[in-house]
Amino acid sequence: MQALHPLKEYEPVIGSQVIEELHLLAEKTKGWTIQNINSTSVGGGVAEILNRMIPLLQELGVNARWDVIKGGEKFYRVTKKFHNALHGKEEEIGQEDFDVFLETGEMNKKMMELSNGEVCFIHDPQPITLVDQRESSAKKWIWRCHIDVSNPNPRVWNFLKKYIDRYNAAVFSAPSFSQPLSIRQFLIAPSIDPLSDKNKELSSDFIQSVLQKYQLDPEKPMVTQVSRFDYLKDPLGVIEAFEKVYRYIDCQLVLAGGEATDDPESTEVLAKTRERAAQNPDIHILAIPSGSDLEINALQRASAVVVQKSLKEGFGLTVTEALWKGKPVVASGVGGITLQITHKYSGLLCHSVDGAAHAIKQLLQNSDYAKKLGENGREHVRQNFLLTRHLKDYLLLFLSLFHEGDIIRF
Ligand code: UDP
Repeated sequence: MQALHPLKEYEPVIGSQVIEELHLLAEKTKGWTIQNINSTSVGGGVAEILNRMIPLLQELGVNARWDVIKGGEKFYRVTKKFHNALHGKEEEIGQEDFDVFLETGEMNKKMMELSNGEVCFIHDPQPITLVDQRESSAKKWIWRCHIDVSNPNPRVWNFLKKYIDRYNAAVFSAPSFSQPLSIRQFLIAPSIDPLSDKNKELSSDFIQSVLQKYQLDPEKPMVTQVSRFDYLKDPLGVIEAFEKVYRYIDCQLVLAGGEATDDPESTEVLAKTRERAAQNPDIHILAIPSGSDLEINALQRASAVVVQKSLKEGFGLTVTEALWKGKPVVASGVGGITLQITHKYSGLLCHSVDGAAHAIKQLLQNSDYAKKLGENGREHVRQNFLLTRHLKDYLLLFLSLFHEGDIIRF
């Protein structure tokens, strides 16, 4: 976990009132044990958020813990299929897949040390069956869904729903993801940490050194997508869009991404992307090791345009990160991205390769417009998607579980 920034260091970014509110709320949850469980400690948005959230909850007196389930390659192949199917992608899923999922679930039920504190906070489908242990563990169980389940494969959703309905509450990132459930539902958007290595200000010397390390031309406008190598992030579509722009504008494309330990598909996607990019020396495919937050930050800051051409997206923290850096963003109008970008105000939304190409071109050719969109985007993130707002929502969520139907007074 990265070095902790005490809450008071956030004051210059978000003002003192927000910090005071957090301390006030945290008086009510002091000493509570909140156990977070997910399936990977590195790579992807969930790990990104937990890394920042846990130390701040601890500073607020909450006994926040984070545990990661164990699983083999077979299990992660199945959960990746589930992930794709929940996003509405066609996947062949047989009984054997459900069996593999349940077997690993059984193993984790035996191995995972569950706290008997206040809340067990389960992230995403992989650890969902742990709820079978609820009688002998935490008082309240929350299922936190980070993915876009607005149009899920019914077979996978119905299988998971049997477990979800046994939680006390479910949390989704956007209103369009909520589903008919018998339990209470909360809408809580994710967030970024403005003080983390991923998002803090960097010196131009450091940014230049990163460009040099990856042999990028500091003089050429850079179009960048930072993402795990996943078909749903559409790296091939980004290359196609870039090539349409490249015909008219001398620029370079950077596709930067590492591998998440719970995504066996990424090696194949990376290889295909490399193959597709091989002919063009201005397309740079960078496999960045996990934990290279300063480098990702530098690449985002060095970009003229940041792209996120996802086919589906839970929230899209990479969009938040780019907006916070005041970058003009071109992103697909899917999932949580639409909460972040208002078309032509805080970025440009696109719905196709041609649309993406047109938008990238427009921003590269009109720097004043690009700058304005970036400024608006940064302000929108300041108001809505910083870690402090997220912390407050989580504290309220924990409290509300113990006050069903009551008004919580402070
Ligand atoms: N990320 C990273 N290195 C990479 C690729 C992604 O640090 O090589 C980070 C990225 O900066 C963001 C998160 O992983 O913070 C991805 O979150 P997002 O919500 O965009 O997508 P997810 O991977 O969760 O689908």
